[in-house]
Formats: sequence, structure tokens, C-alpha cells
Amino acid sequence: MRDENCIFCKIANGEIPSATVYEDEKFRVILDLGPATKGHALILPKEHFDDVCQLNEVYAGGVLPLAAKIGRAMKQGLGCDGFNLVQNNGEAAGQTVRHFHMHVIPRYAGGPKGIAAWEPGSADSKELEELADKIRTNI
Ligand code: AMP
Ligand code: ZN
Repeated sequence: MRDENCIFCKIANGEIPSATVYEDEKFRVILDLGPATKGHALILPKEHFDDVCQLNEVYAGGVLPLAAKIGRAMKQGLGCDGFNLVQNNGEAAGQTVRHFHMHVIPRYAGGPKGIAAWEPGSADSKELEELADKIRTNI
């Protein structure tokens, strides 16, 4: 299903032009307008899903192999040394467009740094076990 008010639905289905690097019947992969690094791409499903929790199994099964395909092509074509897969769910996690998308961010030796990185915190084993239990009992 598509959402008539969703910009990524329009881009994914070709109603709004984009710098497209790949397209098949389920996905369009475009370059991000505000790139973290040169060649930063977004994988967009052509159907609307708000986030990963809504994604159906067909799309979920397609997105990771496609991300690997795009990452490989980036290493070949852009000469990047690695890439990050980033996928934000919910405003608190930095999701600004409510249409599932996966970022494929080329990484180059020498920078820029600070992408998909965090300062490691700390946790003792009691806290880890309590947190694990809160998640485990809701799966
Ligand atoms: P997120 O913060 O995970 O929701 O990512 C949204 C991304 O979409 C950001 O990196 C934006 O730069 C990018 N973006 C927003 N609008 C467009 C657009 N029209 N074309 C390409 N990228 C876009
Ligand atoms: Zn949409």
C-alpha cells in the first residue's frame, strides 16, 4: 500500500525525480540529499511501511541482500573502504521520514569520523540481566 502524503512513496515510485542508483519491482535506491559522506544512499521500498516493525517478510527479506549489493558497488565504484548500514525507527532514534528506509553510508579511510558512533557507557551484570529480561519476556 502507498501513502498519498508520503514523500518517499512518491520518490520510490518515480513521481518525484531522484538520483537513482538501482531499481527493481520492490525497491528504489537513491542518493541522500543531505549526505553524511560522498555517495550516501537510501534504500526505499515502493510500498509504504512506517518503520521496521511494519515491514512485511517479503520486503524484510529483500532489504539486507540489497544493502550488501549496494555496499559492494560503492566499494568498487567509489573506492570507499567500508560502509555503514543505518536504519532509524521513531523520532527518538532520529527518524525524520516516516517511511522505512535503510541508509547505506560509504566510509573512507581518513574520515569523516563520527558517523554511527557512540561513546561506550557502562553496565553491571545485574543491570544487563534485568534489561535482558524486560526484552526477553516481550518477544
Ligand atoms: P532519517 O533521519 O533516518 O529519517 O533519514 C532521512 C534521510 O532522508 C535524511 O538523511 C535526509 O537527508 C534524507 N532526505 C530527506 N528528503 C529527501 C529527498 N527528497 N531526497 C533525498 N533524500 C532525502
Ligand atoms: Zn511512504
